[in-house]
Amino acid sequence: MPKMKAAVFAEVGRIVIDDKPIPDVGPTDALVRITTTTICGTDIHILKGEYPVAKGLTIGHEPIGILEKVGSQVRGYKEGQRVLCAATTPCGQCTSCMMGQHSQCGGKAAGGWMLGNYLDGCQAEYFIMPNAQANMAIIPDSVTDEELLLVPDIVSTGFSAAEQGNIKIGDTVVIYAQGPIGLCATAGARLLGAGLIIAVDPVAERREKALLMGADLALDPRQTDIVSEVMRLTNGAGADVALECLGLTETLAGCLACTRPGATISSVGIYSKDVLLPLDGFGAGLANKRIVTSTCPGGKDRMARLIKIIENGRVKFGSLVTHHFRLDEIEAAYNLFGSQADGVIKVAIKP
Ligand SMILES: [Zn+2]
Ligand SMILES: [Zn+2]
Repeated sequence: MPKMKAAVFAEVGRIVIDDKPIPDVGPTDALVRITTTTICGTDIHILKGEYPVAKGLTIGHEPIGILEKVGSQVRGYKEGQRVLCAATTPCGQCTSCMMGQHSQCGGKAAGGWMLGNYLDGCQAEYFIMPNAQANMAIIPDSVTDEELLLVPDIVSTGFSAAEQGNIKIGDTVVIYAQGPIGLCATAGARLLGAGLIIAVDPVAERREKALLMGADLALDPRQTDIVSEVMRLTNGAGADVALECLGLTETLAGCLACTRPGATISSVGIYSKDVLLPLDGFGAGLANKRIVTSTCPGGKDRMARLIKIIENGRVKFGSLVTHHFRLDEIEAAYNLFGSQADGVIKVAIKP
């Protein structure tokens, strides 16, 4: 049986390169030869044991590659096409999918996230794309892998934060945390027509990138009292929308405290502890604040729309790919990405 290299979860603290058989293609699958993939903050949670997965699972959920083999029931695609799919690969047929809740496929929280969660992922030479007909977006030749690398998860999730925030033209929007997803949320707020965008992050390189992604101001929460500064900038009114892109009580509390009554707080952070809502910012429950959460929207239509944004130059995400590694160097890539050293935003991994 032909073999391939894959990055597998060996035990807590160890993701290692191993040999695995190149997987067989089922009737509704596609086999994709990876040309570029990346490491996600979620993979760091897996590495640290904060998000449990099975030992021996191939990690990774952000693939770009070439169709090697198409399942017998998959229509509309041919071998040799360059494709991507989202981090979530919904079936398109279950009750959750039919209700438009694709990321909750199967009726489980984040059930649409299969790759590198409960199915083998894409930090490998090849991977199986499940539910292929519902999930494959064809990439035009004019767009490079690097320009698209953030699309499968980070752009889709970050834009979802902004979309679910229900941003209106002219709104004041505060965005807590400017990691890769927060930076894309900033870009999304700009695309949706926010009038004033205030990005918050303690890391200087990330604040610089925030300005590139469309923030008007990028504030360091260690230097500036964010809530009083937002109140000053809005003449005491508070922001219309706050986006939470980290997953801590502190950042969610900040979102509540810096917004006006009736505001929307949209969170895409992953929380690893119970959260506490501050009585003040929450208006004791009487302030009509809407707290919404969302997870990476997937499916081929979502991906095709995001490709269009990149293809036509609405936003350029290529500058967020700061480091390059080969697949066999992935342990070094995990070390760098996990420690947020050397100004790293996103790493490209090429088999
Ligand atoms: Zn991811
Ligand atoms: Zn489904």
